[in-house]
Amino acid sequence: MSQPSASILIVDDEERNCRLLEALLRPEGYSTRTAHSGRAALDLISEQPPDLILLDVMMPEMDGHAVARHLKANAATSNIPIIMVTALIDREARLAGLNSGAEEFLSKPVDRAELWLRVRNLLRLKNLGNQLQQHTANLEQQVLARTESLRASELLFRQMADNISDMFFLIDARTAMLLYVSPAYERISGRACASLYGEACGWYDDVLEADRVGFAGDWQQARAEGDHEFEHRIVRADGAIRIIEARCFAVRNALGELVRVAGVAKDISESRQATQRIAFLNRVYVVLSSINALIVRVGSKQELFREACSIAVEAGGFRMAWIGMLDAELGRIVRIASSGIDSDLSGSIASLLASHELARDTMIGRAMLQKSPIVANTARHDPGVLLASEHARAGIRSIAVLPLLVGDAAVGILALYAAESDFFQSEELQLLGELAGNIAFAIDHLAKQEQLDYLAYYDLLTGLANRTLFVERVAQHLRSNPDDTQQLGVLLVDLARFKNINDSLGRHAGDSLLRQVAAWLTRLVGDASGVARVGADQFALLLPVVGQNADFVRRVEDALDAFAAQPFRLDDGVFRIVAKVGIALFPNHGAEAESLLANAESALKQAKSSGDRQRMFVDGMGATAAGRPTLEHKLRQALDNGEFVLHYQPKVNLASRLPTGAEALIRWNDPNSGLVPPDRFIPVLEETGLIHEVGRWALKQAVLDHQTWRDSGLGSVRIAVNVSPMQLRHGSFLNDIGLAVSSDVAANAIELEITESVIMEDVRLSIATLSAIRAMGVSIAIDDFGTGFSSLSYLAKLPADTLKIDRSFVTDMTINADGVALVSAIINLAHSLKMNVVAEGVETDEQATLLRLLNCDEYQGFVYSAAVPADEFARRFLSSPPPSS
Ligand code: C2E
Ligand code: CA
Ligand code: CA
Repeated sequence: MSQPSASILIVDDEERNCRLLEALLRPEGYSTRTAHSGRAALDLISEQPPDLILLDVMMPEMDGHAVARHLKANAATSNIPIIMVTALIDREARLAGLNSGAEEFLSKPVDRAELWLRVRNLLRLKNLGNQLQQHTANLEQQVLARTESLRASELLFRQMADNISDMFFLIDARTAMLLYVSPAYERISGRACASLYGEACGWYDDVLEADRVGFAGDWQQARAEGDHEFEHRIVRADGAIRIIEARCFAVRNALGELVRVAGVAKDISESRQATQRIAFLNRVYVVLSSINALIVRVGSKQELFREACSIAVEAGGFRMAWIGMLDAELGRIVRIASSGIDSDLSGSIASLLASHELARDTMIGRAMLQKSPIVANTARHDPGVLLASEHARAGIRSIAVLPLLVGDAAVGILALYAAESDFFQSEELQLLGELAGNIAFAIDHLAKQEQLDYLAYYDLLTGLANRTLFVERVAQHLRSNPDDTQQLGVLLVDLARFKNINDSLGRHAGDSLLRQVAAWLTRLVGDASGVARVGADQFALLLPVVGQNADFVRRVEDALDAFAAQPFRLDDGVFRIVAKVGIALFPNHGAEAESLLANAESALKQAKSSGDRQRMFVDGMGATAAGRPTLEHKLRQALDNGEFVLHYQPKVNLASRLPTGAEALIRWNDPNSGLVPPDRFIPVLEETGLIHEVGRWALKQAVLDHQTWRDSGLGSVRIAVNVSPMQLRHGSFLNDIGLAVSSDVAANAIELEITESVIMEDVRLSIATLSAIRAMGVSIAIDDFGTGFSSLSYLAKLPADTLKIDRSFVTDMTINADGVALVSAIINLAHSLKMNVVAEGVETDEQATLLRLLNCDEYQGFVYSAAVPADEFARRFLSSPPPSS
């Protein structure tokens, strides 16, 4: 594609600019030199003129204009193309540049594609100019020789006639008979001169059939008028067809009468061909440079293809042109743009390309396979052209099919059809190859651009809008709703425990879930433009609010129910996901897209920390967050003042109905408001890091209570202590436990309850930590089982003693038969892994009976007892046998 031999001089007073341009040009194969001032540039040019100059305008002492003027005034350097590189792009600056002789402009900062297109265009133009100059010089040379010969003396005539390549002849004006023909005739026609003498119509017999009538007329006209010029084709003795140009001059006697006609005939086949070649080449060049200009400004592939085809036909004079791209799904070339296309031919080409057997043999198929141009210069007779007669009917004589190569792959073709035969010679093909290369470059460039645009606005995984586009769309809605008549809801949806799925089932399952959720939400909203993925596991929705806000909240509530009930398929398993939603309404909760989204975000945060499924933004929510320090402060004080207490809920053996253990559940005895349940303050403890201290306290208190009961001679039961995710992940956790359960007795007194989802967040680490805990004699229970997406293979490896079935399953059990089957399956599973099973949240006798029938080991729940203070627990469940239930 490049012209490796071309040398380019870069003139710029700033070293940095020179290096930049050099770096841009080198990969194209040009050799570069640099000069840092106008003077230095002129010195370098006189030493060795470059093929092209990139000239900075603003330079001290001698500026770019002065350099250009100097070069253009000097014949030796006037034809070196100059591209002015300037930061000034106004008309005035360009005019000044043109006046001083620059051919082109580039504005700073320099765009790479523009730079190399401009450079190559100018180099190409310069080459073409050189060729034309050479040709003109040759012609002048010939004319000079001929004039010289005519001026020569009578004596020299015969010598000349014998030796020069043009043939002289003499006609008798009266009879039209040929009196003389020079020996050059033998060279031109391949026949002997003698055969012509006495002929009344010269070399009529040599003339090509088709030209004979015209030739006879011209011969008579020359005889009658003397001065006449005419052209015709002859068939040489060897069968070759040559074009002959004849010029006749009157030869008059003293009385001025026309007596003879003298003529010069020459074979102009070669120069005619050369002229035609230049004309062809010129057409191709016009196409190349127009399409290059198109590439620089074009914004889409479709526009590029359409315009390129019409340039080929309108500016390049091709009969027709079309571009086809490989459709990977169909496995064939599909025409996507064309110009001047013949309707009969169009149908025939399309059906050929659709044919499995024939498509590979078409010129198009071969160009794609061979990744090189395929040419038919005599389309009517070329056996490689499948539609020869259709092409003939459409007036087509030459065809070229150029593959469009992006990297190593042929992605499509450009097909050009000319009315002339022998149109595509090596030079045309070289230019057209460049053209195809440039189009392919543009295709690649535009595809990357499109992808960048897509990436900037869409989420690749789900195909939904991303945050940027969502904000843009919300803003659009707000603009088209200027009187605020339509209330809108911006919802931020967060998937609970998404990270667990990712970690336990793998990224592909996580990705699949996100795609399914995206599809579900799109169906819910009914319009993909109202849904966006705005975070790893967060989606945003835009919904119109119809009716009262309360109705809207109910609608969201219904949607959340439907979502929670929706089974998502992942890895052959079925999963139900809980979503949390934060809502902000326009116009009440914000007048702008960004503020609505930010407020929906604070509402979501509240929903997450409160345990609610959804929260509507309320004014001052930000302030609530800012008010946190007070709660934090109170909790710190609570720790110092010993306001935390542990209550105990008995675990009951289902067979014996005796309490076999206790779960320690923390409460805060707030002097102002009384007992506060853990859901209200544990999130804050976790956020502030206080959880570590409080956790250590709970563990110590449980060990202490256990010891008190034992010391007072009461029966002892193992106490289960809850562990927060934050604690488990903390580096000092193992150490804390070690300190709390320093004796065997203490260790045997304690069980740690760890939520399933927390374990699943990092299975490998969990296994290590749990093993270490167990090694100290402390047992482990997996809490809230069924909500954390355990995969069975992991469950088998977990060092755990007890599995606690989440309350939601226990509730489900008495609602539907599936619920019973599920609980039964969990119990069997746990038993097969040698684990003890505890059912949580048992509220009715029916549930307890069912659990016993299902072989569950123990249960906890209000039906037996809620959590009670330590002394009450000891009194009711340790000292005397429990009341039978
Ligand atoms: P959890 O570990 O799942 O505890 C069981 C929760 O269910 C307790 O709520 C308990 O009072 C409640 N419950 C027991 N039986 C029934 C029943 O029959 N029906 C219903 N509806 N509920 C029942 P509580 O005490 O409010 O504790 C809530 C959560 O706070 C616990 O859930 C646990 O995750 C956490 N928590 C409690 N104490 C501690 C602690 O000392 N440290 C840590 N890190 N977390 C704690
Ligand atoms: Ca628990
Ligand atoms: Ca639980």
